[in-house]
Amino acid sequence: MEKKVVVIADSITVGELAETLNLPITTLIGELFKNGIIATINQRIDFETATIIVEELGLDVSLEKKEATAGPVRKTHQLSDHAVERAPIVAVMGHVDHGKTSLLDAILDTKTVDDEAGGITQHISAYQVERNGRKITLLDTPGHEAFAALRQHGATLTDVVIIVVAADDGVKPQTVEAIRFAREANAKIVVAINKMDKETANPALVKTQLASEHQLNPEEWGGDVIMVEVSAKTGKGIDDLLENVLLVADLEELKADTDTPAEGLVIESHMETGRGSVVGLLVEHGMLHPGHFLVAGTSYGKVRTLCDFKGKALKEAGPSTPVTVTGFKDLPQFGDTFYLVKNEKEARQATVAARLEREREAASTNVTSADLLKLMSQKHEAQDFNVIVKADVQGSLTSVIDSLRLIETEGQINLRIVGSGVGNISENDIHLAATEGTVVYGFSVDLPPAVKRQAARDKVEVRIFKVIYELLDDAKKSMEGLLAPEVVETELGKLTIKGVFRTLKDEVICGGEVTSGKITPGVMARVLRDKEQIAEVEVEKVQRQQVEAKEVFEGEMCGLSLKTQKKLQLEEGDKLEFFTREMVKRTLS
Ligand code: GDP
Repeated sequence: MEKKVVVIADSITVGELAETLNLPITTLIGELFKNGIIATINQRIDFETATIIVEELGLDVSLEKKEATAGPVRKTHQLSDHAVERAPIVAVMGHVDHGKTSLLDAILDTKTVDDEAGGITQHISAYQVERNGRKITLLDTPGHEAFAALRQHGATLTDVVIIVVAADDGVKPQTVEAIRFAREANAKIVVAINKMDKETANPALVKTQLASEHQLNPEEWGGDVIMVEVSAKTGKGIDDLLENVLLVADLEELKADTDTPAEGLVIESHMETGRGSVVGLLVEHGMLHPGHFLVAGTSYGKVRTLCDFKGKALKEAGPSTPVTVTGFKDLPQFGDTFYLVKNEKEARQATVAARLEREREAASTNVTSADLLKLMSQKHEAQDFNVIVKADVQGSLTSVIDSLRLIETEGQINLRIVGSGVGNISENDIHLAATEGTVVYGFSVDLPPAVKRQAARDKVEVRIFKVIYELLDDAKKSMEGLLAPEVVETELGKLTIKGVFRTLKDEVICGGEVTSGKITPGVMARVLRDKEQIAEVEVEKVQRQQVEAKEVFEGEMCGLSLKTQKKLQLEEGDKLEFFTREMVKRTLS
């Protein structure tokens, strides 16, 4: 009989599929359940999963995928012919402790004037400095993960990456990673060889490493990469570094339009008492004004206040300017693009569409055929590792969460983020952690004493980190701890029973001939009768010619004392297979 062809989209909810196939919803949910998928009526499954389920159900139906119509394409800004020069956007990256923070501080110390409140105390993710009347925008990113997250959002934010290498330490793993990120983001690289004030500084070695292993050839050696020797501690070389950053930027002819509607990227967001949402934006094109309606990801707002990075109120902000705005209804995410709309109605429509899109994305990746096949072939159920994540700012939070999700667990452990948020760890977090059985991770946040006491009382583990890699490492180790150990059995030898001398409640004394390999006391043995396993025993003692032996080899006769779980009536001709059994801790690759 010809199979009925049913056309469905590349993902479908369980409810819709049941309706399309004219099946009771419970049948479908039951079938999914059999395959290890706990689905609700509204859960989306992908086309391949649906096909597998239809086959499993043995229906006379074949599914066909409806060709997807092109979805909305993210528009990229096309520069007009009257675009103007803009400040370069620069990020500082490098290995931990090589001096990223110190270098940024040194740059800011010399080049910006502290605001009246007495310096920058609040976490701000971007700054601007001036050099010979020209501006440079500097990004202070929570880490390399943030860049990975940005790339996932399809954004390339930086024009120039300053790669900081400590002159006394040389190229290290995160230096290599930073180089890779800069290249992937198509950014120009300027190397700052830091800690030149130290006696142990060896800039020549750093240059050699960069040139020979990473194809970054210093200008002075005829290459095209500018490398500046600096000391964040003494301030030496900082001016030179900034001048060179501008030089590199000049070659790029960085431009932007100012007469188009404002657009750019969300680089930070957090809640502040009294001010509500405070959102850091980097304007890419156009001029942003207070009163503008903005949409960013799934949130929107009317710009109530517009300030520069020092907190000074601005009337407008143009390309490459980092600003903070208030007025967003809720917190947009790090890496969201923001754009201007006419009014609140348009803003609301846009966010509803964005939310639906995000839900669809989340849902369609919920269950894929790969997951299904994995689940089908899986012997033991995947364990959950539940966490609550708190971070100082939205940007860090996003990158911690994104990075946690990237830990490869090969389907053996599910990382469940039960809660997340910006701010210190609170009593609520502990309460949620206690009821859900989670670990609480804090990134650059505090654990107030009262909350600490509550955590101790409720036996909730709180782990606070300042370095993202350490947090990820800890999460990975915890997840490995959840993996059931792997049981490894090693075959040793075989024996055929020739005589049974005594059978007790939990012991058998017998004798036999080793037919292959060897036998030693302390190992395990499977007892086979007519090729079928009838028991598993432990070899307690081995004797050769009435003398206890450590090993007996193939071809030799021996006496055995076997420990049994329950009375075991061995017979002549039964076979024993000796093996050792070890529990091996599993690790995540
Ligand atoms: P980051 O992890 O890359 O942000 O590194 P930090 O800026 O926190 O610096 C790590 C350590 O190196 C700190 O103890 C700094 O005081 C020190 N440090 C940073 N720059 C210099 C420098 O130019 N000279 C010396 N002697 N120490 C430095």
